[in-house]
Amino acid sequence: MAIVVQKYGGSSVADADKIRNVARRAAAARERGDHVVVVVSAMGETTDRLIELANQVSDHPDDRELDGLLSTGELVSSTLLAMALRSMGAEAISLSGAQAGIRTDAVYSHARILGVKPHRIKKELEQGMIVIVAGFQGITEEMDITTLGRGGSDTTAVALAVSLKAERCELYTDVDGVYTADPRIVPEARRLDEIGYDEMLELASYGAKVIHSRAVELGELHKMPIIVASSFSDKPGTVIHGGALMEVAKKVRGISQDVNVAKVTVVGVPDRTGVASAIFDALARANISIDTIVQNASINRITDLTFTVTKNDLTKAMKVIDPVVKSIGARECTSDSKLASVSIIGAGMQSVPGYAAKMFRALYEAGINIELITTSEIRITCIIDESKAGDAVRVLHRAFELEQGA
Ligand code: ADP
Ligand code: ASP
Ligand code: MG
Repeated sequence: MAIVVQKYGGSSVADADKIRNVARRAAAARERGDHVVVVVSAMGETTDRLIELANQVSDHPDDRELDGLLSTGELVSSTLLAMALRSMGAEAISLSGAQAGIRTDAVYSHARILGVKPHRIKKELEQGMIVIVAGFQGITEEMDITTLGRGGSDTTAVALAVSLKAERCELYTDVDGVYTADPRIVPEARRLDEIGYDEMLELASYGAKVIHSRAVELGELHKMPIIVASSFSDKPGTVIHGGALMEVAKKVRGISQDVNVAKVTVVGVPDRTGVASAIFDALARANISIDTIVQNASINRITDLTFTVTKNDLTKAMKVIDPVVKSIGARECTSDSKLASVSIIGAGMQSVPGYAAKMFRALYEAGINIELITTSEIRITCIIDESKAGDAVRVLHRAFELEQGA
């Protein structure tokens, strides 16, 4: 019997009716003859509400306690789903992340999965159970509860699929697949039948929240096919895989935007060895991830250094580098928290000239100023004003004719 892992996101389990809908879908998959593992997110906006509650009782909620609190959202949906399945006559059992054997490091709120010990899941599957696992959570060596980062239930699902050697991992959500851009922002965006892991990883890492980027990373590493589809229809969805893609003619596959971008500039930095290392060592020690880094050419051995962080990390980043700025003799440190990134992504752009020029021209014609630019082999990202993010995605979608298919 094949093992199939299905994951249902928050909007798919938002109320009792929707939980019953998920129960019917999981039971149908079991009836088709597969072993079924279901991963669930917390109901609707539960995680946001729990974070708000924590902020009401404390200015700085303790990291460990916050993860314990947030993990309860997924416990509610997983237990309710097991009850719904049982009331339909299906055999089902819910397991917390810890019970499912999901071991993580101890980086609260951003924990990484170190390994999965799936013997309990396997035992339940062998007894014919539909096994429901609370997404987004794991357990440390010390038995402390951790969470994997917002949107992390996707990563739970792919990690389980890999460790159970499942045939595929199905992620069910409120859209019927991966689109050329967020369909809430670009109404004429087109659903993709398939997309490569590398392209999906860049889209997800640069703001397409339809799938957690670490889920794509894991899928690519273990060659696990991932399907993104709607929990409210039977349409086939989008397959994320590593094989040859049919739509090769389309050089730009998709466009993403991320409004969670802030910029820090260290002004008047003496241009000598060790200065960048001092700044970025301090940030790394504080667990702050940096994205774009730009160092200007120096004039009279003085330069400026700019980098981007997420908006939530900005205050911490400024605090961490303040003493470093003083010790290296830089003039000052400024920041801008009202930025966004917009990215064009496509494996077909590799070594084909003209994409950057076309992107910059489209933004220029729309009156959108570019603050910073970064690229990878298959991505070009512009940092722009936050208020222009939606316009930028729509303009680029049109410029690269993404509504038109390959
Ligand atoms: P879930 O709760 O099921 O995990 P999410 O809200 O995390 O769902 O992700 C689904 C949402 O992702 C969609 O409602 C859509 O607005 C957004 N999204 C962003 N970029 C894309 C894209 N390229 N294709 C499809 N959906 C996208
Ligand atoms: N409930 C968590 C969140 O809202 C995890 C998830 O939905 O994947 O981020
Ligand atoms: Mg999600």
